Amino acid sequence: MTDTQMLSREAAPLEEEACARAPVGLLAELTHRCPLQCPYCSNPTELERANTELSTADWQSVMRQAAELGILQIHLSGGEPTARRDLEEIVETAAKSGLYTNLITAGVLLSRERLEKLRDAGLDHVQLSIQDVDVENADRIGAYKGGAKKKHEVAGWVRELDMPLTVNAPIHRQNIENLPAIIDYAVDVGAGRLEVAHIQYYAWALKNRAALMPTKEAFMKTAEIVKEAKERLKGILVIDFVVPDYYAKYPKPCMGGWGRGIINVTPSGRVLPCHAAESLPGMQFDNVRDRPLADIWLNGSAFEKYRGTDWMKEPCRSCDRREIDFGGCRCQAFALTGDAANTDPACSLSPKHEEWAKVAEVESHKPAPEFVYRRMGKAANATSE
Ligand code: SF4
Ligand code: SF4
Repeated sequence: MTDTQMLSREAAPLEEEACARAPVGLLAELTHRCPLQCPYCSNPTELERANTELSTADWQSVMRQAAELGILQIHLSGGEPTARRDLEEIVETAAKSGLYTNLITAGVLLSRERLEKLRDAGLDHVQLSIQDVDVENADRIGAYKGGAKKKHEVAGWVRELDMPLTVNAPIHRQNIENLPAIIDYAVDVGAGRLEVAHIQYYAWALKNRAALMPTKEAFMKTAEIVKEAKERLKGILVIDFVVPDYYAKYPKPCMGGWGRGIINVTPSGRVLPCHAAESLPGMQFDNVRDRPLADIWLNGSAFEKYRGTDWMKEPCRSCDRREIDFGGCRCQAFALTGDAANTDPACSLSPKHEEWAKVAEVESHKPAPEFVYRRMGKAANATSE
């Protein structure tokens, strides 16, 4: 479909139903290109190449369609979204369409001048990821020399430019000891929010599970540290704490429930209910190049497949929590049970839970293997760096 065709389609009146059931946020994976190679990256292991990416006009159309649909927030993500030279144009269109714009970035490609341009184009918020506060360890985890130093500089620019800052800190066995220092770092750089996000084991993180999985004792300690810090830093820093599924009693509602709160658009325009959904077999994902976003959201087969609760099997079907966690993660259920409609093994009521939880116990007590770094084409392990 051409850009002109896309624009004429987006002009079609939207059904009231679409707005009433609109997702809150849209995660725009503008590109899978990234100079870092984090071994827990949430991108699929088959990364999309630059020559398949949507054009500037395509993304601008997605922004306008998102606003018409009733979406409130756009998360500009990747890969590394600043690798796109047209980011300012995309931000400007999103802002002018009335969307709240959040840039999720590793920061290393930014200059102060570019950040200022992005702010002037309407960027509302910056979410900066860090690998660790130990500079050497951080650069090793991201496989990018000088990354930690640059990120610190970028955090300073964000605050100088008077933009709100969130620090995102993925936590795992190779940086978990530094959590107190990570909290201090977030306060020092003037962040308003810190995400202490234990790794979720999909995609690249699943390949690296044994290298990343903390022990249960180490995890419990982080819960205590965060609890104390939340109390101490009230009014200074908000801390979000993401628990690892392997040590939880019940699963999280994946993406707030399948087809309920979030819509994900890949670099080439495929529209997914969740960033990991491509790991499920037999799914048909529509593309914004072929079909309007609102129609995909309301009627696309991938969104319909696990929306609501009708698809559930026991024990979820008759469980009181079925509209709280929506049976957890479909990708995790498929990976362990071979059927995505089964209960997520993260749930203590799943018949597979014990087997699943044992994996964490065993792997976290063995010496950590080398990382398999995230990379286009053939993945690389630590020794090939
Ligand atoms: S997690 Fe790391 S490799 Fe993946 S997109 Fe973010 S910075 Fe790049
Ligand atoms: S059985 Fe299903 S609905 Fe009930 S808590 Fe477990 S995952 Fe959630």
